[in-house]
Amino acid sequence: MNAEVLSIGTELLLGEVIDTNTSYLAAQLPLLGINLHRVILVGDNRERLSEALHQAWKRSDIIFTSGGLGPTEDDITREVIAEFLDEELNVSPELEQELRLFFARMGREMSSHNIKQATIIPSARAIPNPRGTAPGWWIEKEKKIIVAMPGPPWEMQNMWVKEVMPRLQQKIQGDFILSRTLKTFGLSEARVNEVVSPLFVSADPELGIYAKPDGIHLRIIARAAKREVAEKIIAQHEAHLREILAKYIWGFDNDTLEGIVGELLIEKGLTLATMESFTGGLLASTLTSVLGNSSSYKGGFVASSNEAKITLGVDTQLIRQYGSISTEGAEAMAMAVCQRLGADIGVGVTGVAGPDIIEGKSPGLVYIAICGDREKWTGDWNFPPPLQLNNIATVAALFALRQRLLSIN
Ligand code: AMP
Ligand code: MG
Repeated sequence: MNAEVLSIGTELLLGEVIDTNTSYLAAQLPLLGINLHRVILVGDNRERLSEALHQAWKRSDIIFTSGGLGPTEDDITREVIAEFLDEELNVSPELEQELRLFFARMGREMSSHNIKQATIIPSARAIPNPRGTAPGWWIEKEKKIIVAMPGPPWEMQNMWVKEVMPRLQQKIQGDFILSRTLKTFGLSEARVNEVVSPLFVSADPELGIYAKPDGIHLRIIARAAKREVAEKIIAQHEAHLREILAKYIWGFDNDTLEGIVGELLIEKGLTLATMESFTGGLLASTLTSVLGNSSSYKGGFVASSNEAKITLGVDTQLIRQYGSISTEGAEAMAMAVCQRLGADIGVGVTGVAGPDIIEGKSPGLVYIAICGDREKWTGDWNFPPPLQLNNIATVAALFALRQRLLSIN
């Protein structure tokens, strides 16, 4: 089955809103065995949307649209589909009632503009949207399918998971398709590709390699007539990847580094404190997102200046001798925060975010130290510009922390 996505909205064309619906759908479709052949981004323009729909209808078995289902004048997806299929658009009494109930539940008055969200054509079935006012449309005609979904990602994704995906699964009763994602940190995308590509010479299983903010992800997709066979293919390839990338793999599927670090701290009964400079609290904020309600994370300091570091317990003499952006500086930060907050483990992160050279050190240089009662560990990285250094340094710190925690009995 060949598919096309029409992403509709002038705001997307202007770059004001990033088209995340398309990337969401693009990641979902392979799991249903649907081949996405094209993605078209089109503004709220009747003529161009109509043209895009004509083209998509000629080329594809299934067309997914997102956007243009709102109540305003510029939202024209329904009208354009109706005109294209040469069908009449009428208000559905059931949809109107549902819409009125939706507004009543929110204690708001329904504007007369919203009534167009209750319109439908004979060949369409409404797809419920409990998160918004725009129901979707499911159309089957002349052996083609059109699925029209609302633009807001929160509504679209819910509709996809609860309604659209199950209907598609029923329609396409073909192979079982399973996927497994392995998450790595420490190797470049090109290097990962180089070491794993000999394992994936055929198209099945498929391997996708993606650069993400938390490292390089590898996604294995396997298809087979039986579920057990697909599971076996995934397991075999996963085992190979684990062998080759052992020390770089930190998680799978929905894992997050902060989630893993949080679980390890709780499991081992250890407490953590952090002191960071140029990351501006990103490490603390990330840890708080998972450990905010636990006693495992004692807290963190943002010490951008040397004065702040000294006030928080870093030795003046040490800064004079080594500079604060150094292995010694990071170590002193980790130990100082550990002592101040009475934690088992302290993390110190310092570096040069750029664009200027500081203390003779170039932008991209990062020092991370992890100190405990019995051991000290430090590492330095030289990340090439123009990476988002505060993000990558936070990921590097969490990755290093995970490794240290795993080595503690
Ligand atoms: P709609 O009323 O259905 O056209 O969409 C309403 C809002 O959803 C837009 O103003 C955007 O903020 C958001 N939106 C629409 N399309 C997308 C998309 N493809 N990706 C992310 N957000 C979108
Ligand atoms: Mg719109």
